[in-house]
Amino acid sequence: MNNCIVCKGDLENRKTNFVADLGNCIIIVKDVPSQVCSQCGEVSYSHEVAMQLEKIVNRMKDSLTEVAIVHYSNTAA
Ligand SMILES: [Zn+2]
Repeated sequence: MNNCIVCKGDLENRKTNFVADLGNCIIIVKDVPSQVCSQCGEVSYSHEVAMQLEKIVNRMKDSLTEVAIVHYSNTAA
């Protein structure tokens, strides 16, 4: 198991909400698998999850909605 890059605390696997503020629209991805520091609350993502989040944001940013909410589990290919 990895340790927090900020405080070296223990990381626990937890689902979190990822929010991307693109200025003209906000994308919220719910229930993203992530590692959360039990000490400082720093959230980090695995490489695969980070790539998937980038894909989701790229796909959603062309939509005209101001706030888009998606569930991570619905987007995993
Ligand atoms: Zn920490």
